[in-house]
Amino acid sequence: MNKLLLFFTLFFCTQLNAQFLDEHCGQSYISSFHGSNNEEVITQRNEIEKFTSEWIQNYQAQPIQQREVITIPVVVHVVWNEAEENISDLQIESQIDATNADFRKLNANLSKIPDEFLDHAVDIEIEFCLATVDPFGNATNGITRTQTDFQNIATLYAPGNELRIFNDDLGGKNGWSPEKYLNIWVGSTGGFPLGYACMPGTCPSWEDGVIIDPLVFGTTCNTKAPFNLGRTTTHEIGHFFNLYHIWGSASDECQEDDLVDDTPFQNGPHFGCPIYPTSSCGSNDMFVNYMDYSDDECLAMFTEGQKLRMLAALNGPRSGLLTSNGCGLITPSPRSLNNNSVLIFPNPVINCLHIDLDLDNQTPILISLYNAMGQRVLSSVNTPDDVRSVDVTSLVPGVYFVNFELGNQSITKRIVVE
Ligand SMILES: [Zn+2]
Repeated sequence: MNKLLLFFTLFFCTQLNAQFLDEHCGQSYISSFHGSNNEEVITQRNEIEKFTSEWIQNYQAQPIQQREVITIPVVVHVVWNEAEENISDLQIESQIDATNADFRKLNANLSKIPDEFLDHAVDIEIEFCLATVDPFGNATNGITRTQTDFQNIATLYAPGNELRIFNDDLGGKNGWSPEKYLNIWVGSTGGFPLGYACMPGTCPSWEDGVIIDPLVFGTTCNTKAPFNLGRTTTHEIGHFFNLYHIWGSASDECQEDDLVDDTPFQNGPHFGCPIYPTSSCGSNDMFVNYMDYSDDECLAMFTEGQKLRMLAALNGPRSGLLTSNGCGLITPSPRSLNNNSVLIFPNPVINCLHIDLDLDNQTPILISLYNAMGQRVLSSVNTPDDVRSVDVTSLVPGVYFVNFELGNQSITKRIVVE
């Protein structure tokens, strides 16, 4: 296979793919937008490919061991114009379930795989969860919803040639850190393409993710046959984890393919549900592979070689996802000391000064009382729950300062003792 040729064709193949009426996937859509003549992207892609092949070589040198299943936090950004584009939580959950089944080789249509390819179909051991923690550490259901004034926002450019769907200011929705979340934008493409995605190293960070038309997102009856089993998303996530189309980038030739050894060379995509055997480039085509364009009901497998590329991506350009807390538990951050979290009253005070601390942790807090000369006249260490009141009857009337210290935070309040 000719790797150099592949990189160049990846970025110059818009016309080639367009002639196939590429309804299933607009991979060339975004790569041509960012990639044409873009030396930086070509350099990044070359580096990623170098890393990938080295990682796979080293990996294969060791026995394949039982791996823990990797869980990828997902945020789904629904950006809608027509009411029916504001798809339900249920429809979103049906997509997560479907993609999990596809990636874990638990899909219901394994019987579609011809015997010749059965041994190559593997469990990718990657799963997806709707995020439970947002980038600020707050609880979330992993779904954002944005109403937009723009029709077909997923393929709509603003002046300056920026795609609107990725930007709050352009009628879309800013993504969450792609280092920690797989961003999936669900917005109307107008029917073409059904979806597109960023392969590692091809997009700026704010566009790094997967984009799917709502009509093919999920498996509920709102989705459109023959793309109603969620496999557009499975396919695009394959690109996100550095998979090429099974035939490579250029069609009508057998010179280069997808840089995966256990997928046969193929001279282009398949549509509908081909009948086995269908052949090209001297071998039978794996039209049931998720990285082909067959109808959803006839896509049924990833291979071991594709799995290794995805795992390499997760240990390289996508490695931030391995340490994401996006599907973790919320750890409450200590509330800081400030004028609102510390109340003292009454002021002026005669006998008893009341202290009300609104802090949601039990870190010891040092409370000191200084007179107007700056001399400390009282101090005590308390946990916030202990602190209730201070007897000031022994103090000489005058101005005092109450200082609260919690870790490296400090706040001082002025009181008058009468
Ligand atoms: Zn594709």
